[in-house]
Amino acid sequence: MNIILLGAPGAGKGTQATKIADKYGMPHISTGDIFRANIKNQTEIGLLAKSYIDKGQLVPDAVTCKIVENRLAEDDCKQKGYLLDGFPRTIAQAEELDKFAKIDAVVNINIDFSLLMNRLCGRRVCKDCGESFHVSTLNGATTCSRCGGELYQRKDDNPETVQSRLDVYTEQTAPLIDYYTKKGIILNFVGTDDPPQVLFGEIAAELDKLVK
Ligand code: AMP
Repeated sequence: MNIILLGAPGAGKGTQATKIADKYGMPHISTGDIFRANIKNQTEIGLLAKSYIDKGQLVPDAVTCKIVENRLAEDDCKQKGYLLDGFPRTIAQAEELDKFAKIDAVVNINIDFSLLMNRLCGRRVCKDCGESFHVSTLNGATTCSRCGGELYQRKDDNPETVQSRLDVYTEQTAPLIDYYTKKGIILNFVGTDDPPQVLFGEIAAELDKLVK
């Protein structure tokens, strides 16, 4: 089963993606994670991506699509399928993806925008396992309760950059909801401030129907 996770920045895609990938035994492919790894390793792609990411803009489609096409050609994507998180983010990316992939389901998390600024600016992420926490629940802890890794604040989780990321989502990514609705493969969910386990239960109930 090949799945796309769609939703605004801060909707909880990363958290749900980890749970879905664990349950269905599929690789979790996050273009944001791929770019951050490239930035850390100071590769050519990393240097290019950084200039866009720091401003809350999208990395050019051609670069992003090539990275995903290469990643999907790897062996682990040919077993139980894969989960795409943060890709596609534009109609052009979705059209390109259609040329090299067959998507079975799009999990779309709709969320009230008023929740997102606080969520993203207070987000702390584990350097090792990628788990996200909100600073208000950490009681001053600086390590991950899941794996013990160090927590950090993403450079693009500041009010100004978050605002551009939300604008970019509205202008360039939200049209994908219509694109995949027309294809009849979208599953819509509502993100809330409830524990992520609640939303995961709803998503898994729908995905289970497709696996059977
Ligand atoms: P994320 O971790 O998904 O929030 O992505 C962080 C940043 O990486 C985004 O704000 C973009 O600058 C860049 N990025 C991630 N995925 C894509 C994509 N599919 N297309 C273009 N830029 C992307």
